[in-house]
Amino acid sequence: MTGSKPSVVTLGTAGGPVWWPGQRPRAGISTAVVVGDRTYIVDAGTGVGRQLVQAGLSMSSVHGIFLTHMHSDHTVDLASLAIFGIMRMPADPTHTVDIVGPGDRGVLPAPTARATAALSPVFADEPTPGTARMFEMLMRAYATDINDRLFDSLRPTPLDWFRARDIVVPGDAGFHANDCPTPDMEPFPVYEDDVVRVSAVLVKHAPMTPAFGYRFDAEGGSVVISGDTARSDNVARLAAGADLLLHEAVDFGWVERRYQEQRDLSAKATRDHHYAAHTSPREAIELANDAGVRQLALHHLAPGNSRAEVWDRDRHLFRGDFRVPADLDVIELAR
Ligand SMILES: [Zn+2]
Ligand SMILES: [Zn+2]
Repeated sequence: MTGSKPSVVTLGTAGGPVWWPGQRPRAGISTAVVVGDRTYIVDAGTGVGRQLVQAGLSMSSVHGIFLTHMHSDHTVDLASLAIFGIMRMPADPTHTVDIVGPGDRGVLPAPTARATAALSPVFADEPTPGTARMFEMLMRAYATDINDRLFDSLRPTPLDWFRARDIVVPGDAGFHANDCPTPDMEPFPVYEDDVVRVSAVLVKHAPMTPAFGYRFDAEGGSVVISGDTARSDNVARLAAGADLLLHEAVDFGWVERRYQEQRDLSAKATRDHHYAAHTSPREAIELANDAGVRQLALHHLAPGNSRAEVWDRDRHLFRGDFRVPADLDVIELAR
């Protein structure tokens, strides 16, 4: 299924740190970018490894795993990609699988204005780890398993194949986790190999910062993945002229219904979060028109079981090809 033309496989298309109910719920957010015989995964939502197998993509085709931000709906199956994934990977590594994502936030977020009492963080000695530390701690937690398979079955270990590193935001961007989480910026490079160049911008998902959107440029096509964000000029800049924009979308009708019913402080704060840090389908369409992208696909749909009409309602406003992919849809990037 992986021709030489670049394509995207929507491994999982639901947002949110929950298992959405329903007969055939969408899997957690994760996207495969396929270029020739190489696969790059963006975000590791719940079910990602299983979806990869369903898509017919092998773990040893994976060259990079990119995390947009540290929310658990984007990272919860990172450990499983390495721990289960290694069971189907050759003992002698043919390449390195780079895990690339945000660094340590560096400072705790300010509490919501709705907080009425002082809050104390968990693990105060290291309350905001980034990608590299998260991966190291996950592998440490599985050391008994990893060492058992190494000593008993001579299996390779995840540390033979996977290498996690933190993205360093350019110093001149003016980024600060609390004071300036989304400065206006130009895309900057975060990864390059023989077949793809990956660049990033900071997106609007405060207080979860740094949060990134990614652009993959390959011979024959380009794709931008917004990450979780409110409407952001940085995303528009990143997406300029792209063949495909995968943009997150939230059903604000659902937000209103759900959080009208629940009147406690946590519900009010969660409603605030959705408005400050996510995008409606209509806003995503407006942004995609401004950026001049050829195809727009909505994903990271929350809730993951809303009816199709919710996402489709404004499709006539988009000047290119519009779609709301199901899990495991294949979207070609080439014209
Ligand atoms: Zn999310
Ligand atoms: Zn998020």
